[in-house]
Amino acid sequence: MTSHVVSTDPHCLFCKIASGQIPSKLVYQDHEFFAFHDIHPSAPVHFLVIPKLHIPSMALVTEEHAALMGRMMALIPKLALEAGCSPYPEGGFRLICNTGTEGGQEVHHLHVHVKGGPRPWLRG
Ligand code: AMP
Ligand code: ZN
Repeated sequence: MTSHVVSTDPHCLFCKIASGQIPSKLVYQDHEFFAFHDIHPSAPVHFLVIPKLHIPSMALVTEEHAALMGRMMALIPKLALEAGCSPYPEGGFRLICNTGTEGGQEVHHLHVHVKGGPRPWLRG
């Protein structure tokens, strides 16, 4: 039997959300990924997708994460539609991955914002 040992940081907000220690509005989860609604949505659909593995930032992604990142990207179109984004090309969604202080990253656990729905949006 394969066990999935996921490295987490006990002080990290998004690790606590992914483990259920802090409540969130769930969009999706499996053994590798967790998706939840942003607490301050800036678009009609606005959720975050994270790997359960504690990777602090996109800046620290390396070749060893390539398959995991690929699976995360492949998951997003499905979740976007399920969460209420309209189909491409009239609908679609916007992905944002804030990276580092100058990149606007506030929570240091890699996350992709998925935003969609009819415009105008609050930001962007
Ligand atoms: P970033 O600036 O890319 O690091 O964005 C962090 C995002 O996490 C912001 O859009 C916040 O609104 C969101 N956020 C912070 N705390 C929570 C929480 N407890 N549940 C859901 N979203 C959160
Ligand atoms: Zn974390």
